[in-house]
Amino acid sequence: MTKIIKLDDALSNKIAAGEVVERPASIVKELVENALDANSTHIVVEIEEGGLASIRIVDNGDGIDEDDVETAFYRHATSKIRTDRDLFQIGTLGFRGEALPSIASVAHVSLTRSTGVGPGTEIVLEGGVIKHKKVAKARKGTEITVTNLFYNTPARLKYLKTVHTEAGNVSDIINRLALAHPHVAFEYSHHGKEVLKTSGNGDIRQVIASIYGRNVAKKVKPIEGESLDYELSGFVALPELTRASRQYMSIFVNGRYIRNYALARAIQDGYHTLLPIGRYPLVVLSIEMDPKLIDVNVHPSKLEVRLSKEEELGQLITQSIKQIFESETLIPEADTRKRTNFSSLKSEQVSFDFEKPAQVESVNVGLQVKENKTWQDKTSSYFEVNDDVNQDSKVDQQRPQDYEQTAASQHESTATAIEQEEESMEVMEETVGQETVTEVTERVPVLYPVGQMHGTYIIAQNETGMYLIDQHAAQERVKYEFFRDKVAEVSPHVQELLVPITLECTAQEFATINEHIDDLHAVGVFPERFGTQAFVIRSHPTWLPKGQEEETIREIIDYLLEHRKVNLAKLREEAAILMSCKAAIKANRHLRQDEMFALLESLRKSSDPFTCPHGRPILVHFSTYALEKMFKRVM
Ligand code: ADP
Ligand code: MG
Repeated sequence: MTKIIKLDDALSNKIAAGEVVERPASIVKELVENALDANSTHIVVEIEEGGLASIRIVDNGDGIDEDDVETAFYRHATSKIRTDRDLFQIGTLGFRGEALPSIASVAHVSLTRSTGVGPGTEIVLEGGVIKHKKVAKARKGTEITVTNLFYNTPARLKYLKTVHTEAGNVSDIINRLALAHPHVAFEYSHHGKEVLKTSGNGDIRQVIASIYGRNVAKKVKPIEGESLDYELSGFVALPELTRASRQYMSIFVNGRYIRNYALARAIQDGYHTLLPIGRYPLVVLSIEMDPKLIDVNVHPSKLEVRLSKEEELGQLITQSIKQIFESETLIPEADTRKRTNFSSLKSEQVSFDFEKPAQVESVNVGLQVKENKTWQDKTSSYFEVNDDVNQDSKVDQQRPQDYEQTAASQHESTATAIEQEEESMEVMEETVGQETVTEVTERVPVLYPVGQMHGTYIIAQNETGMYLIDQHAAQERVKYEFFRDKVAEVSPHVQELLVPITLECTAQEFATINEHIDDLHAVGVFPERFGTQAFVIRSHPTWLPKGQEEETIREIIDYLLEHRKVNLAKLREEAAILMSCKAAIKANRHLRQDEMFALLESLRKSSDPFTCPHGRPILVHFSTYALEKMFKRVM
């Protein structure tokens, strides 16, 4: 008796459906990708009940040939590849020929097609079985409606979340498809209510505005980068616009959204110490490369891909992002709104020319944006300025309240706001550019201390207004750069410890320290083996933070033991951060005028004067104009 049988098509399709059609969002993804592969320039997505009741997708693409309309629903039937060789140079989003049969096997599907010549066709399937096929009136393109989803796979149905969550997932997919394809106009609605509409004019910044809000779109900078194998484009948000999740980093490879830990890491490394711990940037990064360099056939929904030369690509990304912020002035701006009182102070990060105060004012006016956060909110969470926008866009991905206008006018206003914004940005960039020529490293102007508040903040001034400086953060930055340089050079100056430090450790710890002994030497820690379960440390470089040498050494070792896979560059950076934190003056310490001036001068000379090594802001600017507004000297 034979035990092995070949499963029939219906059953194999259902099995495949388990992978590619997990939930409404994955169906939307597959169908929109089909529309994109068919060269559509306009794609409409309408869903009901989070996609559980129905999903309707209309495109204006090439359309399926009359003769292919049944074949399209066969398993492994595709028009996108022909031979083995094609599999290694995929230029389309789809190629597995699985989506249509899988979707049809777990739902009711109606598809209308037309290539624009001859009559159209309508085909209806239930659970993968063709119910009827007839001539129908149709415009060029494809229209597909999916209803009764998972009606014959109750387990899958149970596994789905609430309507709200499913709709959110659909939104998320459409947002990313729209960001990856700014030349395609997307219209997405849930229960007839428009959620996203993009113009398809190719402007990614406008798509960002439609998805994340105008305030966010104002705070993104274009990214550019090129190497022999790769070309980068897209936008990265200013460091003040951080998010609590990695979700807001979208990476596209040849128009395909992918998840890739190493590349996400490379983005974060580009921001370096500009990001607070546990916060992530908002980034839309498109990477173009020869399809031969990617293997997309490693994941059923193709979310993960294998990239050759991933490391080289990572370095290009990190460098390109670093470059953007190296030339930027990143002092957050405290400013006032029209009805001025202390609860309506707002902050904003603006680049401007310190040498020409008159221009500063005009730029600031040009950049007035609506924000409803109170001063208290600001000071407690400086770098979360736009989280209100963030939340709005998360809930069902609907637009922030100030977007509640009609679709068309909203688009216009977004467009004009961004144009105006771009105008003023051009002015700024020009002036900042000029300044860069004369002062390459000093991006903070000369500041004159006026006094100190609560032993914590330095109040300073110059001709453009007032500055508040967090003295601990400022010194941490200065010290960090000092130690970073020190740690990198091998210093012959060592100091003997009066009492050597003995480190007793487990076998595993012993092995870890041994393995990284060269790295430890390179950061000024010199453990000597002492038997098989301990190390002794007899000396240290003279420049370790005074009075805290032993503590510093122990903490570096602890860090190494906690992060066993750490490389030298990372260990150096961590050691420098740790030392700077130990050596920096704490809050609540009185500083003399000359000490304050010296600190501000050192800050000015540091290479990254705007954030402490943990990513917190160091200084805030109150322009004279903002102060005058606050006191109603000007209207
Ligand atoms: P794949 O996209 O992997 O080829 P699918 O099952 O998603 O497989 O689709 C099967 C085929 O049906 C495609 O190769 C394509 O020729 C055709 N097709 C599907 N959707 C569309 C569409 N919206 N417009 C034009 N052709 C389509
Ligand atoms: Mg497909």
